[in-house]
Amino acid sequence: MSAQNVPAPDSGTRNTDAQHAVTQNPDAQHTAAPGITVIGLGQMGSALADAFLTAGHRTTVWNRTPGKADSLVARGAVRAASVAEAVEASGLVVVCVLDYPAVRGLLAPVAGSLRGRVLVNLTSGSPEQARAEAEWAAEHGVGYLDGAVMTTPPGVGDSANMFLWSGSPELLAAHRATLAVLGDPVDLGPDAGLASLYDAGLLGLMWSVFGGWLHATALAGADGVPARDFTAVATRWLKTVSWFMTTYAEQIDEGKYPGDDATIDVQVATIGHLLHAAEARGIDNRLPELHLELMRAAVAAGHGGDSYARIIENFRK
Ligand code: NAP
Repeated sequence: MSAQNVPAPDSGTRNTDAQHAVTQNPDAQHTAAPGITVIGLGQMGSALADAFLTAGHRTTVWNRTPGKADSLVARGAVRAASVAEAVEASGLVVVCVLDYPAVRGLLAPVAGSLRGRVLVNLTSGSPEQARAEAEWAAEHGVGYLDGAVMTTPPGVGDSANMFLWSGSPELLAAHRATLAVLGDPVDLGPDAGLASLYDAGLLGLMWSVFGGWLHATALAGADGVPARDFTAVATRWLKTVSWFMTTYAEQIDEGKYPGDDATIDVQVATIGHLLHAAEARGIDNRLPELHLELMRAAVAAGHGGDSYARIIENFRK
């Protein structure tokens, strides 16, 4: 399809995106075709399609189990009868299924139809899988953006929540306005693997925070403090912890850990109070014991006078 044959977009948002796509990515002229396709209508894919519909985009949908499209079709989505039909309906093809093998299983047979379009992959996976998918897309003349959804389905469409993007900066710029209806777009640059890398790390951070919060909430709860009262103070504390992290990130990048705020030696003594209080209330102490073990290893290596950021060296094998 030549740029002259690009179908007339039927919304202002699409028009802007289509023109950008042609301007910024002249080799991918099909990207100017209007509309968005969403393949995969599980909990997350349905939320994505719903956000596109809400924003007024012509949205074509396909799911392996067809019934999951019904409510979206009732709201105005176009049902595709096959993956090929779904791909051919739009310039922007969003896929959100269980995993990367499912993505490849669906898209490899329609690689010819995908050529010249933009594949937006919001399926979770490893950085290596994302990079392999980007290579596959390039080999087949398909534009590629890899994304990570940093919320659960009810949070899709809320600009307070982040969508991480990696892959072609030109394609992200061209489709940024369209993708911004899902959540605040955070551009991580051209390495397609970075959205998955950040995603994995950020989920690890979330689980660690959940673990610490639940341990602390169990501790407070043992003395009758309701979880909501404790959590109101805990979430405020997290803002201060974020400030510590920002300071420590500078130290990590410089490889210097001056113990000019709170040394590891001091924190070894302090964590004893937590262990004692939790032990006395019958709370499982495995999490803080792991922290103590990491701190003691740093002390044993002669770094007790350094800042807590030094503990990162324990994680580097
Ligand atoms: P889900 O509700 O279980 O939906 C899974 C989807 O994948 C369904 O559409 C399913 O089709 C499809 N699928 C699975 N295997 C398939 C195959 N072999 N061929 C074709 N389609 C296949 O899961 P979800 O919560 O939507 O998650 C989808 C992706 O989003 C996952 O990678 C997940 O990690 C990611 N994600 C989810 C969340 C969240 O909070 N839910 C947050 C961030 C990222 P059927 O309907 O036919 O089974």
